Amino acid sequence: LIQLSIPLNYLGMVYREVKQALTNIQRMYALLDEPQEVRDAPDAPALRVDGATLRFEHVDFHYDAARPILRDVDFTIPAGKTLAVVGTTGAGKSTLARLLYRFYDVTGGRITIDGQDIREVTQDSLRAAIGIVPQDTVLFNDTIYYNIAYGRPDADREAVIAAARSAHIHDFIVSLPQGYDSMVGERGLKLSGGEKQRVAIARTLLKDPHLLVFDEATSALDTRTEKIIQAELADIARHRTTLVIAHRLSTIVEADEILVLEQGKVVERGTHARLLEAGGRYAALWAMQQREAGS
Ligand code: ATP
Repeated sequence: LIQLSIPLNYLGMVYREVKQALTNIQRMYALLDEPQEVRDAPDAPALRVDGATLRFEHVDFHYDAARPILRDVDFTIPAGKTLAVVGTTGAGKSTLARLLYRFYDVTGGRITIDGQDIREVTQDSLRAAIGIVPQDTVLFNDTIYYNIAYGRPDADREAVIAAARSAHIHDFIVSLPQGYDSMVGERGLKLSGGEKQRVAIARTLLKDPHLLVFDEATSALDTRTEKIIQAELADIARHRTTLVIAHRLSTIVEADEILVLEQGKVVERGTHARLLEAGGRYAALWAMQQREAGS
């Protein structure tokens, strides 16, 4: 019995390792969303960024021809401004970010950055220009240093630490017994939601992109952490063209423009104050959230 239990234990360990590796690969795919269907045009030039004005021009999109997801979505984010998209679950908000990153190509209309159709430039140059702070940050089973440096693998140690400081996670990291060499991820230290978001912010700061996408977390952090993180996000969004996929309206009060998306169509647009005045869909969503927050 003893003899048998050793190999079984060993197999159990191997099984866990393999399962972990598979989970990581699955996550990578979840992060990259889908296998690559989108290709560079032959001789595609690199994107030239000059301020990063982002336009969605009459964009239509479906994953499956039988079911349109976006219909005639049209907006401009002038260089350095912030646009927030709100709407009910499944309205197509996150799809906007996937199209911008070119996981998929639009099925109608076009997306341009400083006048260049994103289908006509290299994907590498497009993706280098965009920083995404996702809903749920994937941490690799590696050191916290690696996890931050992932934003720009050629960054030197000073730049990594500077990014961690700006994301207000440096003090936490140096308080760990192994500091920047602490292992995180499923096999290491489990970070809280707020700490993970800060790692994502540090990664993005290190990448220093022209365009930012915040896919706001649906799961709320505690109010204090959330307020702090919002302030940090507002800070890195300043002077950068920013698209906020908003799941909670409190984060977008300051946006230059807000779009309300419903079943893939823009049904309202304006500033927070204007939309409240108008007393339409946005005002109703806002009132609902205020009630929920109060209860
Ligand atoms: P939420 O607020 O819940 O995150 P959302 O507005 O961001 O929702 P999307 O994620 O953009 O919504 O999804 C829009 C619609 O597209 C949903 O009905 C969803 O089921 C569908 N969808 C999303 N991804 C795919 C996919 N890869 N293949 C097919 N349909 C998809």
